[in-house]
Amino acid sequence: MVLPDVANETLTRARPSASVIVPADGRGVDRAARLLAGGGIAALPTETVYGLAADATNGEAVARIFEAKRRPRFNPLICHVDGPAMARRFARFGDLAERLADRFWPGPLTLVVPLAEGAAIHPLVTAGLDTVAVRMPRGVARDVIAALGSPVAAPSANRSGRISPTTARAVRDSLGDEAPLILDAGPARVGVESTIIDLSGDRPVCLRPGGIALADIEQVIDQPVTRADADAAISAPGMLRSHYAPGLPVRLNATDVRPGEALLAFGSGRIAGAGSAVAGVNLSPSGDLTEAAANLFAMLDELDRSGAAAIAVMTIPADGLGEAINDRLARAAAPRETP
Ligand code: AMP
Ligand code: MG
Repeated sequence: MVLPDVANETLTRARPSASVIVPADGRGVDRAARLLAGGGIAALPTETVYGLAADATNGEAVARIFEAKRRPRFNPLICHVDGPAMARRFARFGDLAERLADRFWPGPLTLVVPLAEGAAIHPLVTAGLDTVAVRMPRGVARDVIAALGSPVAAPSANRSGRISPTTARAVRDSLGDEAPLILDAGPARVGVESTIIDLSGDRPVCLRPGGIALADIEQVIDQPVTRADADAAISAPGMLRSHYAPGLPVRLNATDVRPGEALLAFGSGRIAGAGSAVAGVNLSPSGDLTEAAANLFAMLDELDRSGAAAIAVMTIPADGLGEAINDRLARAAAPRETP
């Protein structure tokens, strides 16, 4: 039986499209840039490892990265730029950042700096923080960013918990059809992740050792760099500088809205008291977890400023991106340590 065209199209779209590996030449770069411009994701070679990229100003595109990697957590992502000028559009570069970028970019050095006022970077990229991690990669990834004209968020192109891929084949082995396009530029040159230096505080702190030696960094900025463990900093609930939390108490799995509360809703269902909520927003009226992930940080922030006494959050399903959404909400609801 021949299916009508419309049904055929629907069937094709419902299945994840097959992953393709294409050479990282001019045509490949254009193809990747067009895919990213349309809100898609693509795996790009950088000198450190292969990254899974999305337009950093598009929340739903960034949510697709977490979905493809099956990351159970919304940790902040590195923003990749085609040069210091693009970085200055959304990040505040002080003297140390200027000196380090001048010396080591393009290259495996990521700088954590304050986010500029009104920056177009989507909050899912920074996990709601007021700082942003920025890096200028070498080669093909940079060409794609230049063609797109927008910064690109890109963690390593592997399933969560697996090792970072240094070849196009390793990306496909790890992500399968979840990476619709993989640009192949051969094995990554550096093969380890970028060094991350946090310049947003009083003193420079190394959040992760990587492709650039700390001694070389210290020489350029003419001062010592404090060593810290990046993962500990991000997961420790008391570390407010590295972990966004709303100021208001958060109540999870709410089946009603109590007097004085604001409501963070999900899906089409209504709960008792919703009509008299101090403020109310819906992560996704249609129950779409990708849309909900993209809205999460901005909506929590909006309700935090609503003048309510607390935020009641409806139940969010735990499958797919729901795991990361629930992880973030559980942290927001956890008792605060006083710093
Ligand atoms: P990956 O993208 O997997 O190479 O990891 C990115 C690293 O950068 C993670 O360790 C993040 O915690 C860290 N990172 C990204 N943005 C920030 C930020 N604004 N503040 C602190 N750490 C960050
Ligand atoms: Mg990784």
